[in-house]
Amino acid sequence: MRFISTRGQTAPLGFSDAVATGLAPDGGLFLPETLPDLSGALTRYAGLGYAELCFEFLRIFATDIPAETLRALVAQSYTAFSDPEIAPLKKLGPNLQVLELFHGPTLAFKDFALQLLGNLYGHQCRVRGESINVLGATSGDTGAAAIHGLLGKPGTAIFILYPDGRVSPLQERQMACTGAANVFALAVDGTFDDAQAALKEVFADQTFRLRHRLSAVNSINLARVLAQCVYYLHAWLKLPAAERERVEFVVPTGNFGNVLAGWLLQQMGVPIRGFKVATNQNDILFRFFTTGEYRVGAVAPSLAPSMDIQVASNFERFLYHQVGRDPARLRAIMAEFAATGRYRLENWQRGTFTASRCTDAEIPGIIRRVHRDYGYIVDPHTACAFQDLSPDRMSVVLATASPAKFPETIRAAIGIEPQDASLEALKSRPVVKHRLRADPAAIRQFIAEHAVS
Ligand SMILES: *Cc1c(COP(=O)(O)O)cnc(C)c1O
Repeated sequence: MRFISTRGQTAPLGFSDAVATGLAPDGGLFLPETLPDLSGALTRYAGLGYAELCFEFLRIFATDIPAETLRALVAQSYTAFSDPEIAPLKKLGPNLQVLELFHGPTLAFKDFALQLLGNLYGHQCRVRGESINVLGATSGDTGAAAIHGLLGKPGTAIFILYPDGRVSPLQERQMACTGAANVFALAVDGTFDDAQAALKEVFADQTFRLRHRLSAVNSINLARVLAQCVYYLHAWLKLPAAERERVEFVVPTGNFGNVLAGWLLQQMGVPIRGFKVATNQNDILFRFFTTGEYRVGAVAPSLAPSMDIQVASNFERFLYHQVGRDPARLRAIMAEFAATGRYRLENWQRGTFTASRCTDAEIPGIIRRVHRDYGYIVDPHTACAFQDLSPDRMSVVLATASPAKFPETIRAAIGIEPQDASLEALKSRPVVKHRLRADPAAIRQFIAEHAVS
């Protein structure tokens, strides 16, 4: 299978090249050239374990990796999950289930994609006989998940920049207490935006980038989207047949990465009734799905920080399909957005989407209510998805993080501090972080001294 850029000015690439490239050179995002129709294979998929289902799904796309190699890479990617079901479905009521996506090594759903991406990078190093240095900036969860995807992998090193003192202590420990020699947690002075801006300049230095074979961790990698399709499919197959076509997945989101994966699966012929886009107070997606206008606002930091986003980086993939897969129209919209910070789709139909938003003032009350009504503790991101649930649908809420990652917010809401053994174990390990100025020259120098060659 080949992958095209949404902006239509990059030649189609095979799976491994599209994954290694990340962002297409024309500024677009990679998508499958044609979407497969899975409707005839669903009976065959039912009953497969998580890793086997993931392999069966990915082999449709990763046609340039030998099947047995792919099977092994996928199997390895889900061994660090603590629950044997990988993504267990918990029933809270007759019309309400929770899909728990937080049993990976960093206790948030990003592990589903980044464990796999780490193994794909490792494979690429072996095949090409080349090392790879992965670089990213994080405000929390992505950096930790990317680090745990590459931990100790031969031929790789990973450098994660984060704003010193501005990520939670637990998140910092997940990055800085691994003990792995190929992991570098770089605590940068300034804000996340300062770290991001410095990183952009490092990548813009073409000579430096090529010399150290730098690759970016970001939320738009094709492999991340495809890996995330699998838990929707797994959950859908586990529901009783009579309930499958009533299912609305309720997805806490900021970048539209998670919900995009579910929607793509629906486009591949899996009869899912619909999706609810659940935002926090940074509600650009809520506003789009209720009005058809996409307009940036200012980011207001919230209790659900991994959704504090105003420009949803994966939304372009959805838009591409909405404009009839016409790259010229998409380019015109993106140009209008870059110039004015807004656009409106003409004759736009909401389709099978609904939307909700949840402010910081509402999150603690929802955590309390869910605990009281169901005896279940949700993290502040997942709490956003419990806003305005539709009683007449079968709602499957995606739980994107473990409540143990946000002990203060949970304690303030219900007086209980959730714990997790893996997080407790981190507290006794030394923090190894490198303090740097948010300055491209300082960052380049650090990388030059520590990169694998
Ligand atoms: C990253 C993250 C999200 C948002 O994911 P999107 O890619 O924006 O859909 C939600 N919850 C948690 C816990 C996260 O780490």
